Amino acid sequence: MHGSKFAFYYTYQNVYMKIQHYCSLLVASLLATACTYNTTLIENIEIITPDQSVNALKEGNKRFVGDHPTKYHKDLSQALVLKEGQHPHSVVIACSDSRVPVELLFDQGFGDIFVVRTAGNAVVGNMVQGSVDYAVNHLGVKSIVVLGHTSCGAITGVVSSGKNAHDAHGHGDDGAVPAMIERLGKEIPSYKGKSDCLNEAIKANVMVQANKLAKLPHIKEKVAQGKLSVVPAIYDLCDGKVYFLTEK
Ligand SMILES: [Zn+2]
Repeated sequence: MHGSKFAFYYTYQNVYMKIQHYCSLLVASLLATACTYNTTLIENIEIITPDQSVNALKEGNKRFVGDHPTKYHKDLSQALVLKEGQHPHSVVIACSDSRVPVELLFDQGFGDIFVVRTAGNAVVGNMVQGSVDYAVNHLGVKSIVVLGHTSCGAITGVVSSGKNAHDAHGHGDDGAVPAMIERLGKEIPSYKGKSDCLNEAIKANVMVQANKLAKLPHIKEKVAQGKLSVVPAIYDLCDGKVYFLTEK
């Protein structure tokens, strides 16, 4: 009888301790989530100038290249805590190339940057322009980064223009892809068919896209007021670095 009471007491204590343990884990988890959320929001809200925004990207790329990223790219809590809204500090127009994972190479987390991706990072058409305008006018981003990259297939298509479709695009596609390359070629017409000038064409395209944005009245006004910057940049697949070009 005595042993039975002791066993019950021991079991009760054991269960009580387990409940305490799980409660402490739950509290710790909630605190960690809250801290992460606050950190993300505070970091982005504290970015109030174009220079701070671009510097955040530069520092993030340094962390990426140095192999010591600090952002929580795989943490579900980051996605969940941002469900009420977003406060990205930059809009990045990048190429759709799978080797250019924008958040990773800038070491930016959930909610940090508003990314628009098209082949050849081209700002062509209302869908792209509207996406950029939304980030600028409604989300209040502080910088617009047009991000090209080395070995860009879309630009390779442009500088290969004049050859047959298979040579230019690698798969003989005679539908939308050639039309897309043709349209992209109008952005940098002097590079059409100049297959020896790929890197120059990539840079020229980035500058054309950035200048196009910088000339838009509503963007030009914000740039003049010091509220926004338009920055061309190129991501180098060979070393992981993003090279920022002339700021606009
Ligand atoms: Zn590309």
